[in-house]
Amino acid sequence: MIAFADCQDIRKMTVIKDIDCPRCGAKDGIEVFERDGQTIGDSVCAQCGFTIPEGVAPELYLKEIEHK
Ligand SMILES: [Zn+2]
Repeated sequence: MIAFADCQDIRKMTVIKDIDCPRCGAKDGIEVFERDGQTIGDSVCAQCGFTIPEGVAPELYLKEIEHK
């Protein structure tokens, strides 16, 4: 089952995304580390300090705060 293990390793790879800040509007202001669709660690806007917490799906999180 070595091939299966390799497949899981790929799924667990970390993805780095740049997201526009929802507070100050900084283009690609927040660098987000994501694995399996969830953030790893706090992601902080370089300009205003807005923070996306660990363990959330960034797209969903941003949608949620838009509605508040
Ligand atoms: Zn910001």
